[in-house]
Amino acid sequence: MTDEQKPKRRVGRVVLRLLGVLLLCVVVLGGVLVYRAVTLPSRQIAAAPVPRLALDETAVAQRLADAVRIQTVSTPAGDAAGEKEAFTEFRSLLAKNYPRVHAQLSPQLINDCALVFRWEGANASAKPVLLMSHMDVVPGEVPFASRKWTHPPFGGVIADGYIWGRGTWDDKAGVIGILEAAELLLAENHKPARTTYFSFGCDEEVLGQRGAIKVVEAFEKQGVRFAWVLDEGFAVTHNLIPGLQGPATLIGLAEKGYFTIELSVDGAGGHSSTPPRETPIGILSNAIARLEQQQMPARMPRTMVQMFDALTPEMPFGQKIILANRWLFDPLITRSFLGSAATAASVRTTTAPTMMNAGVKENVLPQGASAIVNFRLRPGDTSADVLAHVDRVIADPRIKVKAVAPPTEASRESTIAGEGFQTLARTSRQIFPDAVVAPGLVLGATDSRFFERIADDVYRFMPIRIHAQDVVRFHGIDERISVEGHADGVRFYRQLLLNIR
Ligand SMILES: [Zn+2]
Repeated sequence: MTDEQKPKRRVGRVVLRLLGVLLLCVVVLGGVLVYRAVTLPSRQIAAAPVPRLALDETAVAQRLADAVRIQTVSTPAGDAAGEKEAFTEFRSLLAKNYPRVHAQLSPQLINDCALVFRWEGANASAKPVLLMSHMDVVPGEVPFASRKWTHPPFGGVIADGYIWGRGTWDDKAGVIGILEAAELLLAENHKPARTTYFSFGCDEEVLGQRGAIKVVEAFEKQGVRFAWVLDEGFAVTHNLIPGLQGPATLIGLAEKGYFTIELSVDGAGGHSSTPPRETPIGILSNAIARLEQQQMPARMPRTMVQMFDALTPEMPFGQKIILANRWLFDPLITRSFLGSAATAASVRTTTAPTMMNAGVKENVLPQGASAIVNFRLRPGDTSADVLAHVDRVIADPRIKVKAVAPPTEASRESTIAGEGFQTLARTSRQIFPDAVVAPGLVLGATDSRFFERIADDVYRFMPIRIHAQDVVRFHGIDERISVEGHADGVRFYRQLLLNIR
């Protein structure tokens, strides 16, 4: 060996040793990732199975079909032709079909609009619970729909194993499901452990100013405060969560907020033959483009983290190894969420420019320009955060920013440790044993947002099965619910009423 070869060999040995260490690190890291994935215990709670309740499913379906036939389409003022009469007729139908509920649970009409029932519980000192739904629906016709309904939207047709029509899901299956369950239990002289209220809104689809808000005010006046509230929101979802083999019962712990701003800029006007370097349209367009490029920061809300905690043990190995190691892969997961509009909305406040207005004539410079931008607030972000973000991103004093209406902040995130979530999860495991239970973040708004101030926890779930391809039926064409699915909803509400402690 020559003297020149010696250092070369030494370098070779060091490189080899480094490679060895690197390999060892990779093996150890791989081992940690796999270990964490395979040892992850299921978080699904055990629930004693219950026998499937025998029901006259056809009769139950018929009563929902009857409810669908009454056109309870709501308008903000509640004064459209025939609107008041429709709601009166709807309440008469309920009174006729659920006589025990109406005789024993002291029905109360709030603000000539919403319907509230009270079922005295065995333990008078326990905080009551509240089950909600709404009686109103959106119109049957859908603007720009490419096809017609298979059965008329208010026909109440039962065909091919389904009840068809507007409101079958949203939200009359809830109203009818709760009343069917209560009627059954009253026939058995059941008394709930806690006082249980039902509240059925009358204008949820047009923001709930005559219904839900007035119900909350009435409860406040009586000093009623709830342990927990259940309203619509999520469902038993099929093929909605990528990778998950079976269905998932998603229980909404929170819902996003709603905030709309107007951006405006003034201009000098004048003839289009001598335009200034920048026009109101150009200035405003720049601002909008900047808002689209620089979105509010993405971060998993606590509810989403808890959703992963519940779903990860149920995932196939490939996904489990990523999701069980969020300490390492969190940036990757968040980035993949940002890849699609539907999932991005779960991890950040969304920015949606929806309207723009400027100019009146092709050869006249506009005196000004304005635009509307709608934000959906992620829990953790406030409307004040949005305004600060907009100011910073636009950074142009020529643009005036103002709120169009008072914001609806994102809701609180309800707990999964409390009695409410546990009762809902247990009931789901009993009635939908094939579905795993997980928390979820609701992207739209429900009447339940008003009830936060009089409830410890608010949950958002309807006991119906929804397949991914059915989601377009909400507020769309061919809304329907299967006869069996509706009966399972009744079974769920009945079991829930039995399970309330
Ligand atoms: Zn609804």
